[in-house]
Amino acid sequence: MTEVFKLPFILSGGLGMGLLFPIFASMKTFQEIVQQTEFSREDLTTLLLAEREERQLLLQQAQSVKLQTIGNKVFFRGLVEFSNICAKDCLYCGIRKSNDHVVRYEASDEEILDACRFAWENRFGSVVLQSGELSSPVFVERISRLLQKIKELSNGELGITLSCGEQNLETYRQWFASGAHRYLLRIESSNPDLYLKLHPENDFHSHQRRLQALKDLRTAGYQVGTGVMIGLPFQTIDDLASDLLFFKAIDVDMVGMGPYIEHEETPLYEFHSQLKTRQQRFDLALKMVATLRLLMPDINIAAATALQAIDPAGREKALTIGANIIMPNLTPTKYRKDYQLYEDKPCLDEDAELCRNCLEARIDLAGCEIGYGEWGDSKHFRK
Ligand code: SAM
Ligand code: SF4
Repeated sequence: MTEVFKLPFILSGGLGMGLLFPIFASMKTFQEIVQQTEFSREDLTTLLLAEREERQLLLQQAQSVKLQTIGNKVFFRGLVEFSNICAKDCLYCGIRKSNDHVVRYEASDEEILDACRFAWENRFGSVVLQSGELSSPVFVERISRLLQKIKELSNGELGITLSCGEQNLETYRQWFASGAHRYLLRIESSNPDLYLKLHPENDFHSHQRRLQALKDLRTAGYQVGTGVMIGLPFQTIDDLASDLLFFKAIDVDMVGMGPYIEHEETPLYEFHSQLKTRQQRFDLALKMVATLRLLMPDINIAAATALQAIDPAGREKALTIGANIIMPNLTPTKYRKDYQLYEDKPCLDEDAELCRNCLEARIDLAGCEIGYGEWGDSKHFRK
């Protein structure tokens, strides 16, 4: 059984010509490119376009770089999607403000703290509190209070990541002081023109505002995580290479990126006929993870839940070839169906206990070890 998720399982055969002959534009063979430690935009594009033997080489090299740099430990971040109330209208997201079909919820303090207590008692090491984006004083104060209570209930042992969207520097500072030390805010796309196609055209949804928020997070002292969706309408391979260069340029500590999955009740669904197949988006997402591991060997990379929406073993495949973080869902089961960012979101009816047991087995199959009770901060940040 242990062999199930080993590398050959996710590779396909065939012979890539670039392995044997230099790739004319760069005059380097694929084999030479994959073994580099510095990568040009052209190199990254070559890696993202790899098929068959070359793809196999990329995934193998990423696996080996990961093992040499950060080892085979996987760290848990218990995910609590505590509210789907959002002031924003991102064109791709199922819980966007204008989707009237969504039943809105806000988990109670007690429900959130129970989920965090479960994480602590099961030695998860860290939790992620995620929600729609709100910035009212009531919301900001509530998060601060919750952060302090999570620290209290776990004797300061649980690491806390927040993923509550764009806020001002003062709010980021307040939450940091209350106990959060990591923050996830995806850039979604580093290309401002593509970003504009994915969001309403106004200052509230601007690319500039998102960039400023990422800077403010750094100023406030967080370990900063960002990421993108892969396989979006209008997105090119060059855009994805730019995304990878963007992660490097802003020196991120962690990245969470996964396939874009359409949602019928969103405006972006209009373009669904132009999308790559789900399998192609999945394959591209795996190549993004592998290429990023080569580009930034010591950062944390999450195996995104969206991978599992396409392939039941999707997250484990990402762990095998470069990712080292997984986010078991601890959202109270009764709310999960109302936090559907995209179609076919997995684990809608599993409770936290089931989810943990299932993951343990899967991670074992991926040949990785779980870093129980550890924060699992990125080696990059510690440096
Ligand atoms: N509201 C916060 C924010 O936007 O940063 C946190 C929650 S938001 C739902 C988390 C992430 O979900 C977004 O950054 C986005 O990349 C992802 N997401 C939303 N809709 C998606 C879709 N249709 N397919 C894949 N990922 C999606
Ligand atoms: Fe709201 Fe985040 Fe969804 Fe945008 S991606 S609509 S901010 S929950």
